[in-house]
Order: sequence, then C-alpha cells, then structure tokens
Amino acid sequence: MALIVKKFGGSSVADANKLFNVARIVTEDYKKGNDVVVVVSAQGDTTDDLIAKAKEINPDNPSKREMDMLLASGEQISIALLAMAIEKLGCPAVSLLGWQAGFSTDSKHSLARIKNVNSERIRAELDKRNIVVVAGFQGLNKYDDITTLGRGGSDTSAVAIASSMHADLCQIYTDVDGVYTADPRKVVGAKKMNEITYDEMLELATLGAQVLNNRSVEMAKKYAVELEVLSSLENKPGTIVKEAVNMEKMLVKGVACDKDILLVSIIGLKDTPGIAFKVFNQLSRKNVNVDIILQSVGRDGTKDITFTVPKTQQADVEEALSIIKEKVDYEDMVINDKTGKLSIVGAGMETHPGVASKMFEALADVGINIHMIATSEIKISVIIDVEDCQKGMQAVHDKFIG
Ligand code: ADP
Ligand code: ASP
Ligand code: MG
Repeated sequence: MALIVKKFGGSSVADANKLFNVARIVTEDYKKGNDVVVVVSAQGDTTDDLIAKAKEINPDNPSKREMDMLLASGEQISIALLAMAIEKLGCPAVSLLGWQAGFSTDSKHSLARIKNVNSERIRAELDKRNIVVVAGFQGLNKYDDITTLGRGGSDTSAVAIASSMHADLCQIYTDVDGVYTADPRKVVGAKKMNEITYDEMLELATLGAQVLNNRSVEMAKKYAVELEVLSSLENKPGTIVKEAVNMEKMLVKGVACDKDILLVSIIGLKDTPGIAFKVFNQLSRKNVNVDIILQSVGRDGTKDITFTVPKTQQADVEEALSIIKEKVDYEDMVINDKTGKLSIVGAGMETHPGVASKMFEALADVGINIHMIATSEIKISVIIDVEDCQKGMQAVHDKFIG
C-alpha cells in the first residue's frame, strides 16, 4: 500500500465529464488499497473570471486580502464537486479547504508562502479510508485570514502535502502529457522529455513554462519529492522531475518565453554611490521579484538603470516607483509592457562556448532585435519585443533542438 498525492489542474476538472474522469483515475488507485490525496485547482477559467469580477468593482487596486478571499472560492467549488463525483462512483471521499488540510502560510496575500502543513486531519481521514480532496492554492495566515499562493499555486500545495506526509508518489496531471522542450501548443517540433532535473525544470518554470509552478519545483527539490507530470486524458507515462537524470547529449534542454513582464527604465540617475540601493531597496520592500538588471556605463555624471519585473506585480511596482521618484534625482522613468523574455535552459552551458552566439544567430536570422541579455551557468535570456516572442521561440528551438 502506498500514499499517493495526485494534483489536477483547472482544465482537468473543467466540467462534469472531466470531474468523472478524475474521479475514475483516483478511485482506481484507491481500490488497489492505496491512500489517495487529491489536490485540485478551480474549474477551467474560474480564477480568471473571479479576477474579472473584482475588476468590475475596483479596476485599479482591490485589497489583496479580499482578492484572496474571493479567489479561494474557486477551489471550494471544485473540491466539493469532485468529492461528489467520487461518491457517485461508490467510494468514500471528503473535501477539505486549505485551512482544514492544515496549510499555514505567511501573510503575503496573493503570493503567500507555505510555512507548514499540519497533516493530522488528512491522516485521520485517510485512516477512515476516505479519499481526501484538498483545495489547492490556499492556506491560512497567523491572523486566521485566507491566503493564496500565487497563480498556478496548486502545484505547490500538492508538493507540500507530498513532502509533509512522505508520500510515495506525487503526480501532477494536466492537459499535456509531460514536460516538453518548449510549449507544445506554441512551438512546432517540441519534444517530450522522459526525465528532467529539478534545476532545469526550476529554470524553465521560472522563465515562463507554466506547466509547473516554479515554487513547487523549488520545494520538490528541497525535500526530494520526485514528481511526475502527466496527462489527465491519456493513460501513459509522463515526465519525471528528479535530482539527476540519465545524461542526454542535448545541451539545451528547453526554450521558454515569458510575456508577462514589465521593462522599467530609470533614465538619467545621478551617478553617486547608493543609487542602486535606493532603487532596489524600495522594490524589495514591496516584495517585487526583480529579474534582469542592466546599468549603463553613464554619461555627464548620470547613468540609466533598466530592469524587468513580473506584470502580475504591477501595482506594487508602481507604488515602489512613486516612492523612488521622491528619493532620487532622475530625468525620466519609462515602463514598457510590450516586451518578453526568451530563454534557453540547460545545465553546463558555461563550459560550452558558442551557445550564446548560436542563440543570437538564430534570432538575427529572423530579424529579431535584442534589447537586453543575461546569462548564468544554466540559462541565457534575452529581452525582445513581445510581438517577436512566438517567432523567436520557434527559431531558437529549431536551431538547438530541431
Ligand atoms: P493546469 O491547469 O493543469 O495547471 P497549466 O495551464 O498551468 O495547466 O499548464 C499546462 C500548460 O503549460 C500546457 O497546456 C502548455 O501549453 C503549457 N506549457 C508551457 N511550457 C510547456 C512545456 N515546456 N512543456 C509542457 N507544457 C508547457
Ligand atoms: N486556480 C489557481 C490559478 O488559476 C491556482 C492553480 O490553478 O494552480 O492560478
Ligand atoms: Mg498550472
């Protein structure tokens, strides 16, 4: 007998047929004598629809606490419906909200981090031979307020349960049959991988491959939870995410693109010590994740700083920038929301000269202009115009993976 955690994303639970499909998958494992915990997301586009509803009331900046209260309701619907579908198939099930399942988080509403999962209640329900259906994406902070974990956060909920309960298996079911070398819906010729390392998957997820939430991969690596990403519609093996994989010849493992970024430029900053600190300290106070940073050489005692931030944090970025405006001397501040970040990922890139130039050649061949470049031992990212992202992804994928 094993303890199995299975997570199903929004498209896998979108309607009654899909819910029964999920119920069949989980009851099959249950009937073999296994303990089964199922984590689900909100149905279909529910989360987006709820966000749209909030914007009808307050288009600019609704309270994050109330946003979390609202968005958590999506998962409440899907857990109850799935538990009913399982019961209809003749197996006992119980649905639990995040707090009932023991999820404590910090208080960063809309992007909370899990502090602990007290799995006593889940354990007790399993011991009663229930299939336990848990609402993903949500928890409770120390003030007993509902929090959410950020978009795609149900993946992290599943990994957190698997690690706290030492599950034998953690399976992430979705609408594709595994992790591909690029988004198979966008890039022709994308190839499914049988295995990928935590580090490579973490980079791909962070750089825009939404198939797994990056925090879920971070947590899986930390607690050595082996993950399988697989299809909820086709019964076949998916992709295993783990520490080390059989070495494949391929150096570049994947291509990802993130269109949800803002490129912020602060132009004509006075060139004195402490300027960069003043700028980035304000952003860090708002918990903004700053990515690529470029500082110009400078002229006439001034310099420019340009950096990228997630579009989802636009309100926090704007608040930070308004404080920065009061604290530093500068000429102009520009926010460009029409760029994207295109990246290649693969371990050992720093020891293979020529990878960067091959990537730039692929982009040059299709006439794409690069605005910024950042490299690390496991990735190369470029900032390009958002309308070039699709073409760029295909060209770079063709060049390295074919
Ligand atoms: P879920 O609702 O199940 O959480 P998501 O929409 O969050 O599903 O993630 C699955 C989607 O991720 C796929 O439909 C696919 O278009 C996209 N995707 C992006 N990059 C990749 C990749 N490298 N491999 C597989 N899927 C990817
Ligand atoms: N329902 C949430 C979202 O759409 C969480 C998730 O799907 O993982 O982002
Ligand atoms: Mg997802």
